[in-house]
Amino acid sequence: MTRTIPHFVGGSHFEPQEGRFADVFDPSTGEVQARVPLASAAEVQQVIANAAAAQPAWAATNAQKRARVMMRFVDLVHENMDELARLLSSEHGKTFDDAKGDIIRGLEVIEFCIGAPHMLKGEYSTEAGTGIDVYSMRQPLGVVAGITPFNFPAMIPLWKAGPAIASGNAFVLKPSERDPSVPVRLAELFMEAGLPAGILNVVHGDKEAVDTILTDPTIQAVGFVGSTPIAEYIYATAAANGKRAQCFGGAKNHLIVMPDADLDQAADALIGAGYGSAGERCMAISVAVPVGEETADALVAKLTERLAGLKVGPGLEPGMDYGPLVSAAAKARVEGLIQEGVDAGATLVADGRGLTVPGHENGFYLGPTLFDHVTTDMSIYQQEIFGPVLSVVRAADYEEALALASDNPYGNGVGIFTRDGDAARDFAARVNVGMVGVNIPIPVPIAYFTFGGWKASGFGDLNQHGADGFRFYTKTKTVTSRWPSGTLRQAQGPSSGPSFVIPTGD
Ligand code: NAD
Repeated sequence: MTRTIPHFVGGSHFEPQEGRFADVFDPSTGEVQARVPLASAAEVQQVIANAAAAQPAWAATNAQKRARVMMRFVDLVHENMDELARLLSSEHGKTFDDAKGDIIRGLEVIEFCIGAPHMLKGEYSTEAGTGIDVYSMRQPLGVVAGITPFNFPAMIPLWKAGPAIASGNAFVLKPSERDPSVPVRLAELFMEAGLPAGILNVVHGDKEAVDTILTDPTIQAVGFVGSTPIAEYIYATAAANGKRAQCFGGAKNHLIVMPDADLDQAADALIGAGYGSAGERCMAISVAVPVGEETADALVAKLTERLAGLKVGPGLEPGMDYGPLVSAAAKARVEGLIQEGVDAGATLVADGRGLTVPGHENGFYLGPTLFDHVTTDMSIYQQEIFGPVLSVVRAADYEEALALASDNPYGNGVGIFTRDGDAARDFAARVNVGMVGVNIPIPVPIAYFTFGGWKASGFGDLNQHGADGFRFYTKTKTVTSRWPSGTLRQAQGPSSGPSFVIPTGD
Protein backbone atom coordinates (compact mmCIF):
# COMPACT_ATOMS: atom_id res chain seq x y z
CA MET A 1 0.00 0.00 0.00
CA THR A 2 1.56 3.34 -1.06
CA ARG A 3 2.07 5.89 1.73
CA THR A 4 -0.14 9.00 1.47
CA ILE A 5 1.27 12.44 2.31
CA PRO A 6 -1.50 14.26 4.18
CA HIS A 7 -2.74 17.82 3.88
CA PHE A 8 -2.19 19.86 7.05
CA VAL A 9 -5.40 21.70 7.84
CA GLY A 10 -6.72 23.33 10.98
CA GLY A 11 -3.77 22.06 13.00
CA SER A 12 -3.93 18.39 12.03
CA HIS A 13 -3.40 15.94 9.21
CA PHE A 14 -6.15 15.39 6.70
CA GLU A 15 -5.86 12.34 4.48
CA PRO A 16 -8.63 12.07 1.89
CA GLN A 17 -9.71 8.54 1.05
CA GLU A 18 -10.87 9.36 -2.44
CA GLY A 19 -10.31 11.93 -5.15
CA ARG A 20 -7.26 12.55 -7.31
CA PHE A 21 -3.67 11.73 -6.30
CA ALA A 22 -0.22 12.29 -7.83
CA ASP A 23 2.90 10.15 -7.49
CA VAL A 24 5.82 11.42 -5.44
CA PHE A 25 9.11 9.98 -6.66
CA ASP A 26 12.48 9.33 -5.10
CA PRO A 27 14.52 10.92 -7.91
CA SER A 28 17.67 9.08 -6.87
CA THR A 29 16.11 5.68 -7.63
CA GLY A 30 13.32 6.67 -10.00
CA GLU A 31 10.81 4.82 -7.82
CA VAL A 32 7.45 6.08 -6.57
CA GLN A 33 7.77 6.49 -2.81
CA ALA A 34 4.40 8.01 -1.89
CA ARG A 35 1.27 9.61 -3.27
CA VAL A 36 -0.03 13.09 -2.62
CA PRO A 37 -3.71 14.07 -2.70
CA LEU A 38 -4.72 16.77 -5.17
CA ALA A 39 -7.34 18.82 -3.38
CA SER A 40 -10.71 19.48 -4.99
CA ALA A 41 -12.17 22.98 -5.17
CA ALA A 42 -14.58 22.12 -2.34
CA GLU A 43 -11.72 20.92 -0.11
CA VAL A 44 -9.73 24.10 -0.73
CA GLN A 45 -12.77 26.24 0.02
CA GLN A 46 -13.17 24.40 3.32
CA VAL A 47 -9.52 25.05 4.21
CA ILE A 48 -9.96 28.76 3.44
CA ALA A 49 -13.12 28.93 5.58
CA ASN A 50 -11.30 27.26 8.52
CA ALA A 51 -8.42 29.72 8.14
CA ALA A 52 -10.83 32.66 8.11
CA ALA A 53 -12.40 31.46 11.37
CA ALA A 54 -8.99 31.19 13.09
CA GLN A 55 -7.50 34.47 11.84
CA PRO A 56 -9.16 37.20 13.97
CA ALA A 57 -7.91 35.76 17.28
CA TRP A 58 -4.38 35.47 15.87
CA ALA A 59 -4.51 39.05 14.59
CA ALA A 60 -5.60 40.14 18.08
CA THR A 61 -2.61 38.38 19.67
CA ASN A 62 0.05 41.02 20.17
CA ALA A 63 2.93 41.06 17.71
CA GLN A 64 5.52 40.26 20.38
CA LYS A 65 3.70 37.02 21.22
CA ARG A 66 3.43 36.13 17.55
CA ALA A 67 7.16 36.77 17.25
CA ARG A 68 7.85 34.35 20.12
CA VAL A 69 6.24 31.57 18.09
CA MET A 70 8.78 32.37 15.36
CA MET A 71 11.57 32.21 17.95
CA ARG A 72 10.56 28.76 19.16
CA PHE A 73 10.12 27.58 15.59
CA VAL A 74 13.72 28.52 14.76
CA ASP A 75 14.97 26.35 17.65
CA LEU A 76 12.72 23.45 16.69
CA VAL A 77 13.89 23.48 13.08
CA HIS A 78 17.51 23.41 14.23
CA GLU A 79 16.72 20.46 16.51
CA ASN A 80 15.12 18.62 13.58
CA MET A 81 17.53 19.83 10.89
CA ASP A 82 19.02 16.48 9.82
CA GLU A 83 15.63 14.77 9.59
CA LEU A 84 14.23 17.67 7.55
CA ALA A 85 17.23 17.74 5.21
CA ARG A 86 16.98 13.99 4.60
CA LEU A 87 13.27 14.27 3.87
CA LEU A 88 13.89 17.20 1.51
CA SER A 89 16.65 15.40 -0.35
CA SER A 90 14.62 12.20 -0.67
CA GLU A 91 11.88 13.98 -2.64
CA HIS A 92 13.83 16.73 -4.42
CA GLY A 93 17.13 14.94 -5.05
CA LYS A 94 19.52 17.70 -3.94
CA THR A 95 22.47 16.78 -1.70
CA PHE A 96 22.05 16.59 2.06
CA ASP A 97 24.23 19.68 2.64
CA ASP A 98 22.41 21.66 -0.04
CA ALA A 99 19.07 20.61 1.50
CA LYS A 100 20.29 22.07 4.80
CA GLY A 101 21.13 25.29 2.94
CA ASP A 102 17.57 25.32 1.54
CA ILE A 103 16.16 25.09 5.09
CA ILE A 104 18.58 27.60 6.61
CA ARG A 105 17.98 30.28 3.94
CA GLY A 106 14.27 29.95 4.79
CA LEU A 107 14.97 30.07 8.50
CA GLU A 108 16.93 33.30 8.13
CA VAL A 109 13.71 34.95 6.96
CA ILE A 110 11.89 33.56 10.01
CA GLU A 111 14.66 35.10 12.15
CA PHE A 112 13.97 38.42 10.45
CA CYS A 113 10.25 37.95 11.22
CA ILE A 114 11.05 37.81 14.93
CA GLY A 115 11.33 41.57 14.46
CA ALA A 116 7.62 41.74 13.52
CA PRO A 117 6.73 44.22 16.30
CA HIS A 118 9.26 46.63 14.84
CA MET A 119 8.24 45.97 11.23
CA LEU A 120 4.57 46.56 12.02
CA LYS A 121 5.10 49.88 13.79
CA GLY A 122 3.37 52.69 12.00
CA GLU A 123 4.31 56.35 11.64
CA TYR A 124 3.18 59.23 13.80
CA SER A 125 3.05 62.98 13.29
CA THR A 126 1.92 65.24 16.07
CA GLU A 127 0.40 68.67 15.29
CA ALA A 128 -0.06 67.98 11.60
CA GLY A 129 -2.69 70.72 11.96
CA THR A 130 -3.74 72.62 15.05
CA GLY A 131 -4.55 69.91 17.60
CA ILE A 132 -4.42 67.28 14.86
CA ASP A 133 -2.32 64.12 15.02
CA VAL A 134 -1.85 61.73 12.13
CA TYR A 135 -0.71 58.15 12.56
CA SER A 136 -0.62 54.98 10.52
CA MET A 137 -0.80 51.32 11.40
CA ARG A 138 -0.09 48.16 9.43
CA GLN A 139 -2.87 45.60 9.71
CA PRO A 140 -3.04 42.02 8.46
CA LEU A 141 -5.00 41.35 5.30
CA GLY A 142 -6.91 38.34 6.63
CA VAL A 143 -6.44 35.03 4.81
CA VAL A 144 -3.55 35.04 2.36
CA ALA A 145 -1.89 32.37 0.22
CA GLY A 146 1.42 31.15 -1.12
CA ILE A 147 1.92 28.93 -4.17
CA THR A 148 5.45 27.59 -4.36
CA PRO A 149 7.77 25.64 -6.70
CA PHE A 150 9.54 22.32 -6.30
CA ASN A 151 13.11 23.59 -6.29
CA PHE A 152 13.22 25.10 -2.78
CA PRO A 153 10.56 23.19 -0.84
CA ALA A 154 11.62 24.66 2.53
CA MET A 155 13.05 28.08 1.71
CA ILE A 156 10.30 29.54 -0.45
CA PRO A 157 7.33 28.38 1.69
CA LEU A 158 9.11 29.97 4.69
CA TRP A 159 9.78 33.20 2.76
CA LYS A 160 6.02 33.47 2.24
CA ALA A 161 4.61 32.01 5.47
CA GLY A 162 6.98 33.91 7.81
CA PRO A 163 5.99 37.52 7.08
CA ALA A 164 2.35 36.53 6.44
CA ILE A 165 1.90 34.80 9.80
CA ALA A 166 4.04 37.21 11.82
CA SER A 167 1.80 40.01 10.50
CA GLY A 168 -1.31 38.34 11.90
CA ASN A 169 -2.71 36.69 8.80
CA ALA A 170 -3.86 33.11 8.37
CA PHE A 171 -1.90 31.43 5.59
CA VAL A 172 -2.83 28.81 3.02
CA LEU A 173 0.21 27.22 1.40
CA LYS A 174 -0.11 25.27 -1.83
CA PRO A 175 3.38 23.77 -2.17
CA SER A 176 4.73 21.88 -5.17
CA GLU A 177 3.07 18.51 -5.53
CA ARG A 178 6.45 17.06 -6.53
CA ASP A 179 8.10 17.39 -3.09
CA PRO A 180 5.27 18.08 -0.63
CA SER A 181 6.50 16.47 2.63
CA VAL A 182 8.81 19.16 4.01
CA PRO A 183 6.12 21.90 4.00
CA VAL A 184 3.86 19.57 6.03
CA ARG A 185 6.67 18.86 8.49
CA LEU A 186 7.36 22.60 8.84
CA ALA A 187 3.68 23.24 9.58
CA GLU A 188 3.81 20.54 12.30
CA LEU A 189 6.83 22.27 13.85
CA PHE A 190 5.01 25.62 13.76
CA MET A 191 2.18 24.03 15.77
CA GLU A 192 4.72 22.64 18.23
CA ALA A 193 6.14 26.17 18.50
CA GLY A 194 2.74 27.45 19.64
CA LEU A 195 1.02 28.57 16.45
CA PRO A 196 -2.76 28.22 16.85
CA ALA A 197 -4.58 25.69 14.66
CA GLY A 198 -5.79 27.03 11.33
CA ILE A 199 -3.16 29.77 10.96
CA LEU A 200 -0.80 27.77 8.74
CA ASN A 201 -2.49 25.31 6.40
CA VAL A 202 -0.79 23.17 3.78
CA VAL A 203 -3.06 22.02 1.00
CA HIS A 204 -1.66 19.95 -1.85
CA GLY A 205 -2.95 20.17 -5.35
CA ASP A 206 -2.60 21.24 -8.93
CA LYS A 207 -4.43 23.73 -11.16
CA GLU A 208 -7.81 23.02 -9.55
CA ALA A 209 -6.52 23.96 -6.08
CA VAL A 210 -4.63 26.98 -7.44
CA ASP A 211 -7.63 28.27 -9.36
CA THR A 212 -9.77 27.98 -6.23
CA ILE A 213 -7.25 30.08 -4.29
CA LEU A 214 -7.23 32.63 -7.13
CA THR A 215 -11.00 33.02 -7.25
CA ASP A 216 -12.13 32.54 -3.63
CA PRO A 217 -13.17 35.99 -2.38
CA THR A 218 -11.78 35.36 1.13
CA ILE A 219 -8.17 35.19 -0.10
CA GLN A 220 -6.69 38.69 -0.04
CA ALA A 221 -3.17 38.18 -1.42
CA VAL A 222 -1.27 35.56 -3.39
CA GLY A 223 2.49 35.15 -3.31
CA PHE A 224 3.73 32.92 -6.12
CA VAL A 225 7.08 31.50 -7.20
CA GLY A 226 7.48 29.21 -10.21
CA SER A 227 7.88 29.28 -13.97
CA THR A 228 7.19 32.45 -15.97
CA PRO A 229 4.05 31.36 -17.87
CA ILE A 230 2.37 30.30 -14.60
CA ALA A 231 3.60 33.45 -12.82
CA GLU A 232 1.96 35.58 -15.52
CA TYR A 233 -1.26 33.56 -15.29
CA ILE A 234 -1.39 33.84 -11.49
CA TYR A 235 -0.65 37.58 -11.58
CA ALA A 236 -3.37 38.30 -14.13
CA THR A 237 -5.99 36.01 -12.55
CA ALA A 238 -5.35 37.18 -8.99
CA ALA A 239 -5.58 40.83 -10.06
CA ALA A 240 -8.75 40.20 -12.04
CA ASN A 241 -10.23 38.75 -8.85
CA GLY A 242 -9.28 41.80 -6.79
CA LYS A 243 -6.30 40.27 -4.97
CA ARG A 244 -2.79 41.48 -4.38
CA ALA A 245 -0.21 39.38 -6.18
CA GLN A 246 3.56 39.11 -6.24
CA CYS A 247 4.67 36.49 -8.75
CA PHE A 248 8.24 35.46 -9.40
CA GLY A 249 9.12 33.54 -12.55
CA GLY A 250 11.94 31.82 -14.39
CA ALA A 251 15.43 33.04 -15.17
CA LYS A 252 18.38 33.02 -17.51
CA ASN A 253 21.23 34.32 -15.39
CA HIS A 254 24.46 35.51 -17.02
CA LEU A 255 27.90 35.72 -15.49
CA ILE A 256 30.24 38.15 -17.25
CA VAL A 257 33.94 37.28 -17.01
CA MET A 258 36.19 40.24 -17.76
CA PRO A 259 39.73 39.74 -19.11
CA ASP A 260 41.20 40.98 -15.80
CA ALA A 261 39.18 38.54 -13.63
CA ASP A 262 40.79 35.83 -11.53
CA LEU A 263 39.91 33.03 -13.94
CA ASP A 264 40.28 30.23 -11.41
CA GLN A 265 37.89 32.00 -9.08
CA ALA A 266 35.47 32.62 -11.97
CA ALA A 267 35.66 28.99 -13.14
CA ASP A 268 35.00 27.67 -9.63
CA ALA A 269 32.09 30.06 -9.26
CA LEU A 270 30.62 28.96 -12.58
CA ILE A 271 30.89 25.28 -11.70
CA GLY A 272 29.12 25.77 -8.37
CA ALA A 273 26.47 28.15 -9.68
CA GLY A 274 25.92 26.30 -12.96
CA TYR A 275 25.78 22.72 -11.77
CA GLY A 276 24.91 22.95 -8.04
CA SER A 277 21.49 21.42 -7.31
CA ALA A 278 21.63 20.02 -10.87
CA GLY A 279 21.08 23.55 -12.20
CA GLU A 280 17.57 23.57 -10.73
CA ARG A 281 17.89 26.97 -9.05
CA CYS A 282 16.25 30.18 -10.19
CA MET A 283 19.57 31.88 -9.41
CA ALA A 284 21.69 29.25 -11.20
CA ILE A 285 24.11 30.69 -13.71
CA SER A 286 23.20 29.19 -17.07
CA VAL A 287 25.13 31.56 -19.36
CA ALA A 288 28.84 32.38 -19.03
CA VAL A 289 29.93 35.45 -20.99
CA PRO A 290 33.71 35.69 -21.27
CA VAL A 291 34.88 38.98 -22.75
CA GLY A 292 37.41 38.52 -25.54
CA GLU A 293 38.55 35.33 -27.29
CA GLU A 294 41.60 34.88 -25.07
CA THR A 295 39.47 34.99 -21.90
CA ALA A 296 36.96 32.61 -23.50
CA ASP A 297 39.55 30.02 -24.53
CA ALA A 298 41.19 30.08 -21.09
CA LEU A 299 37.86 29.93 -19.25
CA VAL A 300 36.49 27.02 -21.31
CA ALA A 301 39.75 25.10 -20.68
CA LYS A 302 39.45 25.66 -16.92
CA LEU A 303 35.76 24.67 -16.89
CA THR A 304 36.46 21.50 -18.88
CA GLU A 305 39.20 20.47 -16.45
CA ARG A 306 36.86 20.91 -13.48
CA LEU A 307 33.91 19.10 -15.06
CA ALA A 308 35.90 15.89 -15.26
CA GLY A 309 36.06 15.74 -11.46
CA LEU A 310 32.37 16.36 -10.65
CA LYS A 311 30.58 13.64 -8.70
CA VAL A 312 26.94 13.06 -9.57
CA GLY A 313 24.89 10.58 -7.56
CA PRO A 314 22.28 10.13 -4.84
CA GLY A 315 21.89 13.31 -2.81
CA LEU A 316 22.04 11.40 0.46
CA GLU A 317 25.36 9.71 -0.41
CA PRO A 318 28.26 11.70 1.06
CA GLY A 319 30.67 13.40 -1.33
CA MET A 320 28.28 14.10 -4.20
CA ASP A 321 28.46 17.49 -5.93
CA TYR A 322 24.91 17.28 -7.15
CA GLY A 323 22.07 14.79 -7.38
CA PRO A 324 19.40 13.78 -9.88
CA LEU A 325 16.87 16.02 -11.59
CA VAL A 326 13.44 16.11 -9.96
CA SER A 327 11.59 13.92 -12.44
CA ALA A 328 11.92 11.77 -15.53
CA ALA A 329 10.03 14.44 -17.48
CA ALA A 330 12.49 17.15 -16.36
CA LYS A 331 15.40 14.95 -17.41
CA ALA A 332 13.85 14.18 -20.82
CA ARG A 333 13.17 17.89 -21.42
CA VAL A 334 16.76 18.89 -20.65
CA GLU A 335 18.12 16.08 -22.86
CA GLY A 336 15.88 17.33 -25.67
CA LEU A 337 17.25 20.85 -25.30
CA ILE A 338 20.84 19.53 -25.37
CA GLN A 339 20.04 17.87 -28.70
CA GLU A 340 18.57 21.15 -29.98
CA GLY A 341 21.83 22.89 -29.06
CA VAL A 342 23.84 20.31 -30.99
CA ASP A 343 21.50 20.59 -34.00
CA ALA A 344 21.75 24.39 -33.93
CA GLY A 345 25.55 24.19 -34.22
CA ALA A 346 26.76 24.98 -30.68
CA THR A 347 29.99 23.22 -29.68
CA LEU A 348 29.20 20.44 -27.19
CA VAL A 349 32.33 20.48 -24.99
CA ALA A 350 30.94 18.05 -22.39
CA ASP A 351 27.85 15.86 -22.87
CA GLY A 352 26.12 14.70 -19.69
CA ARG A 353 23.59 12.49 -21.42
CA GLY A 354 23.78 8.76 -20.85
CA LEU A 355 25.21 8.98 -17.34
CA THR A 356 24.52 5.83 -15.31
CA VAL A 357 24.97 5.75 -11.56
CA PRO A 358 25.76 2.16 -10.49
CA GLY A 359 23.06 0.79 -8.19
CA HIS A 360 20.74 3.66 -9.16
CA GLU A 361 20.26 2.94 -12.84
CA ASN A 362 16.71 4.30 -12.94
CA GLY A 363 17.48 7.58 -11.12
CA PHE A 364 16.94 10.83 -13.01
CA TYR A 365 20.64 11.69 -13.40
CA LEU A 366 22.25 13.89 -15.98
CA GLY A 367 25.98 14.60 -16.12
CA PRO A 368 27.40 18.11 -16.40
CA THR A 369 27.00 19.52 -19.89
CA LEU A 370 28.94 22.42 -21.37
CA PHE A 371 28.29 24.25 -24.63
CA ASP A 372 30.67 26.74 -26.22
CA HIS A 373 29.99 29.16 -29.12
CA VAL A 374 26.32 29.50 -28.20
CA THR A 375 24.48 32.31 -30.00
CA THR A 376 21.39 34.25 -29.00
CA ASP A 377 19.18 32.71 -31.70
CA MET A 378 19.55 29.17 -30.28
CA SER A 379 16.83 27.63 -28.10
CA ILE A 380 19.45 26.68 -25.48
CA TYR A 381 20.07 30.42 -25.05
CA GLN A 382 16.45 31.52 -25.26
CA GLN A 383 14.88 28.98 -22.91
CA GLU A 384 15.43 28.40 -19.22
CA ILE A 385 16.94 24.90 -19.31
CA PHE A 386 16.75 24.26 -15.54
CA GLY A 387 19.33 21.48 -15.65
CA PRO A 388 23.09 20.97 -15.34
CA VAL A 389 23.85 22.73 -18.61
CA LEU A 390 26.10 25.77 -18.96
CA SER A 391 26.27 27.77 -22.20
CA VAL A 392 29.24 29.94 -23.12
CA VAL A 393 28.32 32.99 -25.20
CA ARG A 394 31.48 34.83 -26.26
CA ALA A 395 31.33 38.65 -26.19
CA ALA A 396 33.77 40.90 -28.04
CA ASP A 397 33.80 43.61 -25.39
CA TYR A 398 32.26 44.83 -22.13
CA GLU A 399 29.38 46.74 -23.78
CA GLU A 400 28.32 43.65 -25.71
CA ALA A 401 28.36 41.55 -22.52
CA LEU A 402 26.37 44.17 -20.62
CA ALA A 403 23.79 44.37 -23.42
CA LEU A 404 23.39 40.57 -23.50
CA ALA A 405 22.32 40.46 -19.86
CA SER A 406 20.28 43.65 -20.08
CA ASP A 407 18.40 42.74 -23.27
CA ASN A 408 17.52 39.22 -22.15
CA PRO A 409 13.77 38.88 -21.47
CA TYR A 410 14.53 37.49 -18.00
CA GLY A 411 16.07 39.66 -15.29
CA ASN A 412 16.53 37.63 -12.12
CA GLY A 413 20.24 37.55 -11.29
CA VAL A 414 23.52 38.47 -12.98
CA GLY A 415 27.19 38.51 -12.02
CA ILE A 416 30.42 40.12 -13.10
CA PHE A 417 33.91 38.86 -12.30
CA THR A 418 36.56 41.55 -12.57
CA ARG A 419 39.36 43.23 -10.61
CA ASP A 420 38.31 46.64 -11.95
CA GLY A 421 36.13 48.49 -9.41
CA ASP A 422 35.10 51.08 -11.96
CA ALA A 423 33.81 48.42 -14.38
CA ALA A 424 31.97 46.69 -11.52
CA ARG A 425 30.30 49.94 -10.42
CA ASP A 426 29.29 50.80 -13.96
CA PHE A 427 27.88 47.30 -14.42
CA ALA A 428 25.87 47.36 -11.19
CA ALA A 429 24.41 50.75 -12.08
CA ARG A 430 23.50 50.03 -15.70
CA VAL A 431 22.53 46.36 -15.97
CA ASN A 432 18.78 45.81 -16.37
CA VAL A 433 18.51 42.92 -13.88
CA GLY A 434 17.13 42.82 -10.32
CA MET A 435 19.96 41.15 -8.37
CA VAL A 436 23.64 41.70 -9.13
CA GLY A 437 26.77 39.89 -7.91
CA VAL A 438 30.25 41.39 -8.07
CA ASN A 439 32.73 38.51 -7.89
CA ILE A 440 29.79 36.60 -6.37
CA PRO A 441 28.08 34.08 -8.63
CA ILE A 442 24.67 33.63 -6.93
CA PRO A 443 23.69 37.00 -5.50
CA VAL A 444 20.70 35.87 -3.42
CA PRO A 445 20.22 38.81 -1.03
CA ILE A 446 20.27 38.11 2.71
CA ALA A 447 17.00 37.96 4.63
CA TYR A 448 16.89 41.61 5.72
CA PHE A 449 17.23 42.83 2.13
CA THR A 450 14.61 41.89 -0.45
CA PHE A 451 14.65 39.29 -3.21
CA GLY A 452 13.11 39.87 -6.61
CA GLY A 453 13.91 39.69 -10.30
CA TRP A 454 12.87 42.06 -13.05
CA LYS A 455 11.20 41.70 -16.46
CA ALA A 456 9.87 38.16 -17.07
CA SER A 457 11.35 37.04 -13.73
CA GLY A 458 8.99 39.07 -11.55
CA PHE A 459 5.43 40.43 -11.75
CA GLY A 460 4.19 42.81 -9.08
CA ASP A 461 5.76 45.73 -7.30
CA LEU A 462 6.95 44.33 -3.97
CA ASN A 463 9.82 41.89 -3.53
CA GLN A 464 10.01 38.86 -1.28
CA HIS A 465 11.29 38.98 2.32
CA GLY A 466 12.91 41.92 4.09
CA ALA A 467 10.66 44.92 4.64
CA ASP A 468 8.74 44.21 1.41
CA GLY A 469 7.54 40.86 2.80
CA PHE A 470 5.73 42.70 5.59
CA ARG A 471 4.43 45.38 3.23
CA PHE A 472 3.00 42.75 0.90
CA TYR A 473 1.09 40.89 3.60
CA THR A 474 -0.26 43.98 5.42
CA LYS A 475 -2.37 47.00 4.58
CA THR A 476 -1.80 50.51 5.84
CA LYS A 477 -4.48 52.35 7.77
CA THR A 478 -3.94 56.06 8.38
CA VAL A 479 -5.77 57.87 11.19
CA THR A 480 -6.20 61.64 11.35
CA SER A 481 -7.46 62.64 14.80
CA ARG A 482 -8.36 65.69 16.81
CA TRP A 483 -9.24 65.81 20.53
CA PRO A 484 -10.30 69.39 21.13
CA SER A 485 -9.30 70.37 24.64
CA GLY A 486 -11.09 73.03 26.64
CA THR A 487 -8.27 75.50 25.93
CA LEU A 488 -8.31 74.73 22.24
CA ARG A 489 -12.06 75.10 22.00
CA GLN A 490 -11.73 78.54 23.56
CA ALA A 491 -8.92 79.52 21.16
CA GLN A 492 -10.91 78.33 18.15
CA GLY A 493 -14.14 79.96 19.22
CA PRO A 494 -17.51 78.52 18.29
CA SER A 495 -17.65 76.14 15.31
CA SER A 496 -17.80 78.09 12.07
CA GLY A 497 -19.96 75.38 10.46
CA PRO A 498 -19.15 72.82 7.79
CA SER A 499 -16.26 73.48 5.40
CA PHE A 500 -16.64 72.68 1.71
CA VAL A 501 -12.99 73.28 0.81
CA ILE A 502 -10.48 70.44 1.04
CA PRO A 503 -8.28 71.00 4.11
CA THR A 504 -4.65 71.73 3.26
CA GLY A 505 -1.47 71.83 5.31
CA ASP A 506 -1.62 75.64 5.49
P1 NAD B 1 5.85 25.57 -11.90
O1 NAD B 1 5.48 26.86 -12.49
O2 NAD B 1 5.64 24.33 -12.70
O3 NAD B 1 5.02 25.32 -10.53
C1 NAD B 1 4.97 26.28 -9.51
C2 NAD B 1 3.66 26.13 -8.75
O4 NAD B 1 2.58 26.39 -9.63
C3 NAD B 1 3.44 24.74 -8.19
O5 NAD B 1 2.88 24.83 -6.91
C4 NAD B 1 2.48 24.11 -9.19
O6 NAD B 1 1.63 23.14 -8.60
C5 NAD B 1 1.68 25.29 -9.68
N1 NAD B 1 1.21 25.12 -11.07
C6 NAD B 1 1.86 24.45 -12.06
N2 NAD B 1 1.12 24.52 -13.20
C7 NAD B 1 0.02 25.24 -12.92
C8 NAD B 1 -1.11 25.66 -13.70
N3 NAD B 1 -1.24 25.34 -14.98
N4 NAD B 1 -2.06 26.40 -13.09
C9 NAD B 1 -1.95 26.73 -11.80
N5 NAD B 1 -0.90 26.36 -11.02
C10 NAD B 1 0.07 25.63 -11.57
O7 NAD B 1 7.37 25.69 -11.41
P2 NAD B 1 8.33 24.55 -10.85
O8 NAD B 1 8.73 23.65 -11.98
O9 NAD B 1 7.78 23.94 -9.64
O10 NAD B 1 9.60 25.43 -10.40
C11 NAD B 1 10.63 25.79 -11.26
C12 NAD B 1 10.45 27.19 -11.81
O11 NAD B 1 10.36 28.11 -10.73
C13 NAD B 1 11.63 27.65 -12.64
O12 NAD B 1 11.15 28.35 -13.75
C14 NAD B 1 12.39 28.57 -11.69
O13 NAD B 1 13.20 29.54 -12.33
C15 NAD B 1 11.27 29.20 -10.97
N6 NAD B 1 11.71 29.76 -9.70
C16 NAD B 1 11.76 31.13 -9.60
C17 NAD B 1 12.20 31.71 -8.44
C18 NAD B 1 12.25 33.21 -8.31
O14 NAD B 1 12.35 33.69 -7.20
N7 NAD B 1 12.16 33.95 -9.39
C19 NAD B 1 12.61 30.91 -7.37
C20 NAD B 1 12.53 29.52 -7.51
C21 NAD B 1 12.07 28.96 -8.68
